[in-house]
Amino acid sequence: MYDAILIEKDDGAQRVARRSVSFEDLGDGEVAVDVAYSTLNYKDALAITGSSPVVRSFPMVPGIDFSGVVVESRDPSYVPGDRVVLNGWGVGEKHWGGLARRAQVRGEWLVPLPEGISLRQAMGIGTAGYTAMLCVMALEAGGVSPEAGEVVVTGASGGVGSVATALLAAGGYTVIAATGRPEGAAYLEGLGAKGIIERHELTGAARPLAKARWAGAVDVVGGEVLANVLSMMQPRGVVAACGLAGSMALPTSVAPFILRGVTLRGVDSVMCPKPERVEAWQRLAKTLDMDKLEAMIREVAFDDVVAAAPDFLEGKVRGRIVVPIAPELS
Ligand code: NDP
Repeated sequence: MYDAILIEKDDGAQRVARRSVSFEDLGDGEVAVDVAYSTLNYKDALAITGSSPVVRSFPMVPGIDFSGVVVESRDPSYVPGDRVVLNGWGVGEKHWGGLARRAQVRGEWLVPLPEGISLRQAMGIGTAGYTAMLCVMALEAGGVSPEAGEVVVTGASGGVGSVATALLAAGGYTVIAATGRPEGAAYLEGLGAKGIIERHELTGAARPLAKARWAGAVDVVGGEVLANVLSMMQPRGVVAACGLAGSMALPTSVAPFILRGVTLRGVDSVMCPKPERVEAWQRLAKTLDMDKLEAMIREVAFDDVVAAAPDFLEGKVRGRIVVPIAPELS
């Protein structure tokens, strides 16, 4: 038996609690991993609170990511003692996830932990930070460079936003952080933001085109915020869109695309091909300032995970939440 957060559903009612579950229920993945750390991401909060149909089968162990140490492997790529990280692939949605003492997953889903990064730092980064790096890579692939002008990051105080701000600033970009919590400006400036724009300046119905300002954008909010960002893009600007913290809708027009040649690049971390994942993790290990990462981290105990989840949906989380599960493995 091992400990896990378990989501159960009976007659439409969802119950979530820490429970002791059987190793036999772990699934048929080739690699067994002792989980050292997991995290809470926005999607985990949706799963735990049941506010969106993230979980596809019950009972489910939530946790879309974890870092840990391989204990058994039928995949020749891994041997006991290997340190690994996992993000996505439906783990915590369709397959039992990382908010547990043990995970049993397919070898191809794992990424070896890059040199120079600890198991705790890996989950400080977590899926939010790995997605932030995918967004940076999407801007680069679209031809955005630091010389092109200002880059805006929306939902900047959250997990994806905080890491994106730090990564872009480290890459020499002039980052403007868009936030609904301007009282947290010192935190965002500490991560490298050169300026702050208040969320309300990016809300309301978007005009087809507004004054051109942004060379690039990382958007985690969607809805009117993304529509306003699109209308403010410079000619040939690129937006990396990964989130829906504000809304799933996109009330925009074709004007930014056909009159300014703007590119909207979607970023999907869940099914992202392995070579891109490996590149993202290697670049995170090399370029993310670990002191800045530390400033983003708040630890939440395994027993307090369920109580902490609603904070995400109320927009109260700043930076990243790390859940130590077996930190002695580090
Ligand atoms: P967080 O909750 O940590 O951050 C979201 C931030 O968005 C908040 O901190 C807040 O920032 C802002 N925000 C919250 N609510 C609203 C609102 N109603 N209107 C406008 N802004 C709002 O979440 P994450 O950073 O972990 O994730 C952000 C989004 O990205 C989520 O939608 C998540 O599902 C998505 N995501 C997608 C991935 C993918 O593969 N595509 C992977 C990872 C995340 P502030 O207070 O600064 O305004």
